[in-house]
Amino acid sequence: MPKIKKLLVANRGEIALRIMRTAREMGISTVAVYSEADRISPHVKFADEAVCLGPPPSNQSYLLGDKIVEVCKSLGVDAIHPGYGFLSENAEFAKMVTNAGLIFVGPSPQSIEVMGSKLAAKQAVAKYDIPLVPGTEEAISDISIAKARAQEIGYPILIKASAGGGGKGMRIVESEQEFEEQMQRAVSEAVSAFGDGAVFIEKFITSPRHIEIQVLGDQFGNTVYLFERECSIQRRHQKVIEEAPSAVVSPEMRKAMGEAAVGVAKACDYYGAGTVEFIVDDQLNFYFLEMNTRLQVEHPVTEMITGKDLVREQIMIAEGNPLSFAQEDLKINGHAVEIRVYAEDPKNNFLPDIGKLVTYRRPQGPGIRVDDGFEEGMDIPIYYDPMIAKLITHGENRQDAIDRMIRAINEYRITGIQTTLDFCRFALQHGAFTSGQFDTKFVERYFTPDKLEPVFTEEEKELLAALAVEFYSKEENRINPTLALKEVPSTHWKNRLI
Ligand code: ADP
Ligand code: ADP
Ligand code: MG
Repeated sequence: MPKIKKLLVANRGEIALRIMRTAREMGISTVAVYSEADRISPHVKFADEAVCLGPPPSNQSYLLGDKIVEVCKSLGVDAIHPGYGFLSENAEFAKMVTNAGLIFVGPSPQSIEVMGSKLAAKQAVAKYDIPLVPGTEEAISDISIAKARAQEIGYPILIKASAGGGGKGMRIVESEQEFEEQMQRAVSEAVSAFGDGAVFIEKFITSPRHIEIQVLGDQFGNTVYLFERECSIQRRHQKVIEEAPSAVVSPEMRKAMGEAAVGVAKACDYYGAGTVEFIVDDQLNFYFLEMNTRLQVEHPVTEMITGKDLVREQIMIAEGNPLSFAQEDLKINGHAVEIRVYAEDPKNNFLPDIGKLVTYRRPQGPGIRVDDGFEEGMDIPIYYDPMIAKLITHGENRQDAIDRMIRAINEYRITGIQTTLDFCRFALQHGAFTSGQFDTKFVERYFTPDKLEPVFTEEEKELLAALAVEFYSKEENRINPTLALKEVPSTHWKNRLI
């Protein structure tokens, strides 16, 4: 069995660092690659060796598959972990890596190819009795046939790019009158964004939840599911809060979804870690959406509730080891929540707000995990996904994990840029979230910029600091600040003072 001794991580930021940490625990030496924008990044400093790939744009650095394989040859690397995004779901790259005699820490190029096309994926799972969203199983070539099908399904419908990803390449069609126009737009967007104009129709589920199942399979056909992740809190069809387990999934539903996910994995002879995404309607019917053939951004919530290190499992599988546990060995322990801390302004449509991390202090303490890739004083580059960190909390139950998350958000100190922290606190405290009765429309339904706590101006901060000094100068306040603060009217100010 090939034992991996030196691993190159073909990625950047938090995920590169997270992968290298596990590699180090396993006694594997690490090689980082970076662009000129990431010279001083923690992932570069952490690695045993690091190689600059080129200028900041990803097509001149992180996407240069050939160059990455060359680096491996010259440094005696024996395996590549692609992380998520970039080359992780590129079947050609996976092929190139294997052809060069290297181990690709991920599934086979064939699995990536089938699941990389939403249409090919639907066709592959057809014989496994997996529930699919009503729609077309083939690319639309004839508008009148497509319209007839849309009529049958009933409006609104969704036109989706087969090669789409990252929440892009989807158009809602409300009525037959707008069908042609939206269809043309969808095709031209799909061509320009993904180089593939194939689009298909799906019924638009109006009040959907996004719930996905983590699977792990070895190269001997053993496949298990590591339960679900609830990912319904999204903006722009992209996740921002995730949790495991879901508040609405019963043990029976979990088993049914888990078994369906294993069926999807088997349909493409899957090995490695993968995620099967489902959309769930308001009657809790679930339908297969797509499979992501890589480690997922939100994988830590699954690690927290199962106690498994998914990167370690990926490496063990890539080395050719059989899974060391069976389905019956897996149990859910407590509850985990993750928030994505993006350099974005929730008050301005969640548009990226990049700049310098003037202050950057992470929360600490029991049940808290921070996966990040920045240090105080660093700039968030404009070239890549503006995610600063993932903040994950674990608790005995859902409420504990949420309470802990709010405490952690209040401890997090980021200045210099706007972030999604305040938005996440708002969401976690909202009745719809705490009751578990929410869907992917949460942001549209409940969020407006005025819902966020006021951001203090410099003058206000000075005033607040002065007040705090005065407050704590009284001995009785120092002894029991919470009690003393009952007398102070504004809760916002109290939060800042404690
Ligand atoms: P997850 O499903 O793991 O939460 P996302 O769908 O948000 O992840 O995507 C993970 C990363 O990969 C993000 O940085 C996203 O921008 C990128 N990504 C995913 N699919 C594509 C794609 N088809 N084209 C470009 N980038 C993509
Ligand atoms: P991507 O490859 O971009 O991740 P997905 O098919 O996974 O594409 O869909 C991303 C998100 O879009 C889902 O999480 C969900 O919020 C929404 N979505 C996708 N399909 C439907 C549908 N048929 N009806 C309603 N919402 C959908
Ligand atoms: Mg998806």
